[in-house]
Amino acid sequence: MYSAGAMKLYIRQSDQHGQGVFASMPIASGEAIIVFTGPLLHRSEVDFGDYHLQIGEELYLGPSGSADDYINHSCHPNSGFRDGLTLYALRDIAAGEEITWDYSTAIDEEDFPGFPCACGAPGCRGTVRSFRHLLPDVQARLRPLLLPYLNSRYFRD
Ligand SMILES: [Zn+2]
Repeated sequence: MYSAGAMKLYIRQSDQHGQGVFASMPIASGEAIIVFTGPLLHRSEVDFGDYHLQIGEELYLGPSGSADDYINHSCHPNSGFRDGLTLYALRDIAAGEEITWDYSTAIDEEDFPGFPCACGAPGCRGTVRSFRHLLPDVQARLRPLLLPYLNSRYFRD
């Protein structure tokens, strides 16, 4: 059930929000951290009150029951996607550090209401929004970290 990457991780209460995922050992920049998994769901099947990850215009992953469900958002994250559902370290991460990624690199629902961000990072955007509702300069900065469906939707002809 656990991917190999899960060995590097543990789940505990986060200062930021609910439970979070933390490095149990140092993780080097560029290293794969975890692969997101879960049941493949059409938008109409998603329980929006439960964990879910948007991976296509109408496609989602439901809860996996693994650490990937509990990784919190940051506007200045230490990990991100590259070309699929594997999360990579964007810099060296110390043991005990919380793992974060930018949810706006996956969420792109027209009707997503957003939620207040508590990441505390310098330059925090204040609200977690759909990718389409970000300012152009933020979109451009997030481009290397986008899930493939967003990259092909907004950046490839
Ligand atoms: Zn933030």
